[in-house]
Amino acid sequence: MSVAERAAREQKIANASALVERCRKCEIGSIRENAVYGEGDPCAPLLIVGEGPGETEDKLGRPFVGRAGALLEKMLGAIALRRDDVFICNTVKCRPTFDDGVRLRNRAPSPEEMSNCRPYLDEQIEIVRPKAILCLGAPAAKSFMGQKFSISKQRGQWFEGPSGIATIATFHPAYILRMTGGELEATKRLVWADLKAIRTKLDTVDKPPPPAAAPAQPTLFE
Ligand code: URA
Repeated sequence: MSVAERAAREQKIANASALVERCRKCEIGSIRENAVYGEGDPCAPLLIVGEGPGETEDKLGRPFVGRAGALLEKMLGAIALRRDDVFICNTVKCRPTFDDGVRLRNRAPSPEEMSNCRPYLDEQIEIVRPKAILCLGAPAAKSFMGQKFSISKQRGQWFEGPSGIATIATFHPAYILRMTGGELEATKRLVWADLKAIRTKLDTVDKPPPPAAAPAQPTLFE
């Protein structure tokens, strides 16, 4: 990747992020403390899509910085990736909340919020042009693979995502954090298999094919 190309992508990310900062398409755009555009390497081989910012992300304006983020970083470390090596974002850029009368609580993003935010997500994918996309949890996976996608049955399988980019889903770190005992151990094994599939994809996609076997010495003089 040339220095000029990297700089151009960084500029595009900065422009898009400033636009999201001003976005008020949804009500949560006016309630949130900060928009959480996403962050990471604009030339990353892997783009990670979560569901939506939580309370800590909203406070800091950065994705995956709470407990789920710490587990995500561990998961990445297991396949020799640092947080800075990837690009991390969400299906929605503002924290979806409801007021329980005492405080604002997290909720799943609505279909309308996801569709309002989709152009920003598509643009991120277009700018980064990763080798692979990792969806964390069912909402992110369904946004690419369709509403029938089943995270328990279809996680760990490769699909053709936006612009034909190889796309895979695994369990959301926040979901893993709620597990204990045998269920946790079984889930960790599945996630480890998914992570290894991602490592293999990153190591093989775009690599030139191995050279064809050297042709046998032609028998020119017979
Ligand atoms: N969960 C998400 O899906 N995204 C975040 O940014 C943080 C937690």
